[in-house]
Amino acid sequence: MAAWITPSDAAAPADVAAYQALAQQDLRLATIGYRLAQANAPFCDRKTQNIGWVLHDEARYPDNGLAKTAFIFRSPVAISSVVAGGEAAQLGLQAGDGITAVDGIDVTGPIVVKKGRATARIEKIQTLLKDAFAKSGSAVVSINTAAGPKDVKLQPPAVCASVFWVDTKTKLDAGADGVSVRVTEGMMAFAAADDAELAAVVAHEMAHNLLRHRDRLAVTGRAKKDILATEIEADRLSVWLMQNAGYDPAAALRFIERFGRKTGLGIFSDTTHLRWGNRQMLMQAEIASMMQVDAQNGFRPPPLLRPSN
Ligand SMILES: [Zn+2]
Repeated sequence: MAAWITPSDAAAPADVAAYQALAQQDLRLATIGYRLAQANAPFCDRKTQNIGWVLHDEARYPDNGLAKTAFIFRSPVAISSVVAGGEAAQLGLQAGDGITAVDGIDVTGPIVVKKGRATARIEKIQTLLKDAFAKSGSAVVSINTAAGPKDVKLQPPAVCASVFWVDTKTKLDAGADGVSVRVTEGMMAFAAADDAELAAVVAHEMAHNLLRHRDRLAVTGRAKKDILATEIEADRLSVWLMQNAGYDPAAALRFIERFGRKTGLGIFSDTTHLRWGNRQMLMQAEIASMMQVDAQNGFRPPPLLRPSN
């Protein structure tokens, strides 16, 4: 799967500021996801090359006039934002730069956007890039920049395979489907004050994907004890992912307490998830044992990601 964010579909904010706020959320999640995926790359068996950009299609926005006031589109699919430290940023690519071709294959048209689903053109770009990276590790992308058209060779670093996307729901929710990590706008707002708390949510969901919990549950069945076992593993692994990415793992403890007090439940229900107090104790113990492990080049190998597990 592609390893960059797919902006949420069918968002219908009412004004320019709301459009820009949505793009800002995409960047916030992409940045946290990139940091976690990059720092933990040495311990991930499935990796993908990640350019560190967020793309958006002008057709994503119901009001095209507003979209063109809110953003620059130098072609129908443009860079919405670049992740600090990612390859796109290092190459000097900027918001507004338009993607016109991948290895000479035009990606500007025709408009293949179906109602309520404005990511088809972006998916084409992602597929072309993924195939090119699989074949040679690099791709030449034609880009309309402020200084005119240019061809740029992309050869991004391989990071943990993950896709991160903002779900435009107000409900406090997050999820993992084996490949992607979904965080609702409601959850992002709940963790608005602290990126490390949002990183705790992303790391927990990413842990489910890295540990292939979906596959495992497909084999074991979804009995409460089996689901609970995956939840405990995700909580345990999450603090290692955070620590390696430079986020204070104690933010996970703060988050789980605030979230628990707010909802009274675990992320989904109290029968498949431990109560928040127990989750807090478990993660606290995991952090304590993690700190006993010597860092290697600044990173601590998570025991749950050892090949033997
Ligand atoms: Zn979970």
